[in-house]
Amino acid sequence: MTSRTEPSFRESVDLMFNRAVKLMDLPPGLEEKIRVCNATYTVRFGVRLRGAMHTFTGYRSVHSEHMEPVKGGIRYATGVNQDEVEALAALMTYKCALVEAPFGGSKGGLCIDPREYEEHELELITRRFAYELAKRDLINPSQNVPAPDMGTGEREMAWIADQYARMNTTDINAKACVTGKPLNAGGISGRVEATGRGVQYALREFFRYEEDKAAAGLSGTLDGKRIIVQGLGNVGYHAAKFLAEEDGSRITGIIERDGGLFNADGLDVEAVRNWIVKNGGVTGYPDAQYLEDGSKLLEEDCDILIPAALEGVINLSNAERVKAPLIIEAANGPVTAGADDILRKKGCVIIPDMYANAGGVTVSYFEWVKNLSHIRFGRMQRRQEEARHQLVIDELQRLDDVMGDTWSMSPNFKDKYLKGAGELELVRSGLDDTMRVAYQSMREVWHSRDDVTDLRTAAYLVSIDKVAKSYHAKGL
Ligand code: NAD
Repeated sequence: MTSRTEPSFRESVDLMFNRAVKLMDLPPGLEEKIRVCNATYTVRFGVRLRGAMHTFTGYRSVHSEHMEPVKGGIRYATGVNQDEVEALAALMTYKCALVEAPFGGSKGGLCIDPREYEEHELELITRRFAYELAKRDLINPSQNVPAPDMGTGEREMAWIADQYARMNTTDINAKACVTGKPLNAGGISGRVEATGRGVQYALREFFRYEEDKAAAGLSGTLDGKRIIVQGLGNVGYHAAKFLAEEDGSRITGIIERDGGLFNADGLDVEAVRNWIVKNGGVTGYPDAQYLEDGSKLLEEDCDILIPAALEGVINLSNAERVKAPLIIEAANGPVTAGADDILRKKGCVIIPDMYANAGGVTVSYFEWVKNLSHIRFGRMQRRQEEARHQLVIDELQRLDDVMGDTWSMSPNFKDKYLKGAGELELVRSGLDDTMRVAYQSMREVWHSRDDVTDLRTAAYLVSIDKVAKSYHAKGL
């Protein structure tokens, strides 16, 4: 097995796609039409910084336009290349179909280490990149809508939105050209936490099914489960924080660029995050065992492994030694196709990326809808909902008064019941529903077909079927 060579990220995605498509009965040629990437645009542009011209290379790849706009994040990292953006764009197509976000798949990237630049330099670079993409409609509210990914966040999205608005002064929907913006620049409550929150909701849904837990040799609830997380960035931090604080899970390991932390009693996620912000890494963190080669923690005993950093980290060189019975792919493509084969044979259950990290695009979808409707979710109905609840409370209060000691309302009931849902509550509710429904569609296929033995194949079957139907509806 180890003599096999590792495919590239895009080849890995294609291999997994092909494994699923073999089990389908698609019209001739459609399989290839869905699999291939429609177009990838490479741009090289110069920005004058520190007294000299610096040339940057960026990409925007459009995988499938069966629905428009196409959607997908923009990544800032030195390793960005065409193969990677194409793989990520393909995953976006399948992800959006799976969670029923009405988008085609796209992705972008810039070869840059953002830590090497000052904020004002990053702004110049981002604005220039956005200009290059927007003038080719590769940023456009109705055609191509980027979002944050590794190395980018709210700040970069705000610059992109502003750059687009400057170039399209009469476009009333300009804000919908990008998602993941800060709240005061047209963003939506709950977008920053969305991908990590989605990972939490995905795990909660998995743990609702005895049969699914049993497949991974697990039982009980998330309470007390030992979790190792790789990457304490946007996705990993929020997932780890919510699982520890709200579900009682123990974060026993955290892997970062500069090493890993291990503590069998559980790490304080907030304290580790603060340490990283202050010191630039996990090195020197006091309340844990430190491992210089953090990736060794991927092989450590735990109940759940959450790779939330980059692709290809579980591969032919370490898959055999990975002990986790359950892996949830918070990052895109963390398990290579070869490693996936090995892990499946070992009985490890993998909750696949295209589902596990779909919380981000789901809430991005809500943000895009909010921008197009020009109104905050909940603004019209919140007080009306509260007024109706007040009627019920008044009646209950009357009962409470008559019943004396024999019956009374539970403590806090009034306050909890009276509170109408604001935007954050609605976003979380929509995200929870999306994650649950999508999981159920995957597990239905997983358990009802003898030829489907894993969640990833099930996820591909569900999403490819949806893309195929959308082509069919167009008469193609
Ligand atoms: P981020 O830049 O906020 O965080 C990435 C973290 O990983 C950082 O803390 C970084 O230091 C760490 N890291 C980098 N290289 C590492 C290494 N070799 N070993 C260990 N840690 C390392 O990025 P993010 O937005 O959290 O994205 C992480 C993954 O999640 C990516 O695969 C991305 O495509 C995927 N994703 C992100 C979103 C989103 O909304 N941000 C949505 C869907 C999927």
